[in-house]
Amino acid sequence: MERIPLGNTVFEGRNNAYLIPGDRPTLVDVGVATDAVRQDLHDGLDALGYDVADIDAIVLTHWHADHTGLAGEIQAESDADVYVHEDDAALVAGDEDALAEERRISERRFEEWGIPEEPLDELTTFLGGHEELRGDTVDVTPVTDGDRIAAGDDELEVVHLPGHAAGLSAYAFDGDEGREAFVGDAILPKYTPNVGGADLRVDRPLATYLDSLDRLVDLDFARAWPGHRDVIDDPAGRARVIADHHRERTERVLSVLDEHGPADAWTVSAHLFGDLSNIHILHGPGEAFAHLDHLVEAGVVEQDGTEYALADADAEASELVAVPETKR
Ligand SMILES: [Zn+2]
Ligand SMILES: [Zn+2]
Repeated sequence: MERIPLGNTVFEGRNNAYLIPGDRPTLVDVGVATDAVRQDLHDGLDALGYDVADIDAIVLTHWHADHTGLAGEIQAESDADVYVHEDDAALVAGDEDALAEERRISERRFEEWGIPEEPLDELTTFLGGHEELRGDTVDVTPVTDGDRIAAGDDELEVVHLPGHAAGLSAYAFDGDEGREAFVGDAILPKYTPNVGGADLRVDRPLATYLDSLDRLVDLDFARAWPGHRDVIDDPAGRARVIADHHRERTERVLSVLDEHGPADAWTVSAHLFGDLSNIHILHGPGEAFAHLDHLVEAGVVEQDGTEYALADADAEASELVAVPETKR
């Protein structure tokens, strides 16, 4: 398996595509549809002795444009099968109804979060300016947890890890170090993947994501190959660090509500993250919302319209966000 680094820095920072050489040359994620990233991908394949036309399969970790943008044009040139989890399939395919539904949910959330007009305009302009990064439409083969996909000389197993995106899936395989996986943005080496703002279709985003972290700890992969940056040598440990980060953030949300509540998601976000620009206008209040929603569900915060108030001043973050134990 070969990593092809892509220069895109539009969203979470430089992306990775991966090539699995062999009988069925397969790409895992493909990068955003820009000239520069297209060049990076073509150069990367070329250096490995491959051409776009050689690709037989593309597996996508989730629907975000920085992972999927070039899939349509590669498919047009190579006739490759394109696989993605069924929950993200319609968005990747470019289905108009699915895209319109995603926009409707977003607009409703932006209002619920209380994003003021000026940052909302900036966000709308930012998102509109990035629409073409999604690239051409794709003929998608939907997959689901446990499915196996022939790739290279072996196969990949679909491991559904929703949270950052509804359909986010890792693809597990027998690697040099044992059972390994391509994990997309399920866990990243440096940043905590955004939850709550990155896919507004996800119900109960924080609980959903924490369950996926639990599963990653259980699966205890030998290595994980993320959608951004470098290989993760201890995926279970990284999942625990990220869960602990969310426990800490829950603690902060509770103290923001204690000092400044009742407050809407935008105001809580401002206390957590300060001033925000571009994509962070989405990710900041989205993250705050994911935590507030989790606290409402746990009964320690009450929601009245767009405002959240602390209902239980003795709430303990450690009881609300469990950090999974390792097996080892
Ligand atoms: Zn993503
Ligand atoms: Zn990403």
